[in-house]
Amino acid sequence: MNKFFKRLYIKSFSSFIILLEETIKKEQKMFIVTANPETFMMASKEKEMEKIILDKNTMVVPDGVGIVKAAHMLDYPVTERITGIDISWELLRIGNEQKKSIYLLGAKEEVITLVVKKIKQDYPNVKILGYSNGYVEDKDKILEDIKKKEPDIVLVALGIPAQEKLIYKHIKDFKKGIFIGVGGSFDVISGTKKRAPKLFQKLNLEWFYRLIKEPKRIKRFYNSNIKFIFQIRKYKKVNK
Ligand code: UDP
Repeated sequence: MNKFFKRLYIKSFSSFIILLEETIKKEQKMFIVTANPETFMMASKEKEMEKIILDKNTMVVPDGVGIVKAAHMLDYPVTERITGIDISWELLRIGNEQKKSIYLLGAKEEVITLVVKKIKQDYPNVKILGYSNGYVEDKDKILEDIKKKEPDIVLVALGIPAQEKLIYKHIKDFKKGIFIGVGGSFDVISGTKKRAPKLFQKLNLEWFYRLIKEPKRIKRFYNSNIKFIFQIRKYKKVNK
């Protein structure tokens, strides 16, 4: 686990956004993975995810509070949460300010259509080069289309680990662009789902809000987050 924590971006959210602004302006490439306990648990079990997280070119940011707390327990000076949904909003803002282009892949057809509508309305300078729902069978074909169109921003909302694996498989063929797997962010941007109220976010209980809203997540939560906590505790004990 330690080797994954070493990969975490440790500065503040605002520093990260400045870095994003510069990367987009300079037309460079960046692949962002928003890490949750589930991400590191998968990486510790599965070779492909391990490779993605350990790759020096992958930008790993601490998304979940579980990662931030565990990092502190292990003495990594992570500043704060940098979430996929907040990055998504910032990318739209930056794209609008810098008049950049975007490609969107993921979520249900009715959700992605609403996201496109919202971008056209609220971020009129963002050029939408293409979009697709996340249930098409041949996603590699979509990636080939993205390669031809060379967007500045690519948001992929397929859930972990499908979104990360798909981006990683193709990233070497791109010269520029910000690539990020944004999980359920399209559901929030479209207004289909609500993000946890500010109070829950403040109290670090956003995960709890998601659990009560979507109880089917409980098993997934147990398998990743609860086991994760035990692993970190065990590691701390052994390495005292
Ligand atoms: N999704 C998709 N194709 C699939 C499976 C999932 O486009 O084959 C979408 C789904 O509609 C949702 C997102 O991927 O918008 C996953 O959201 P979830 O909240 O599960 O992601 P998390 O942030 O928890 O990883």
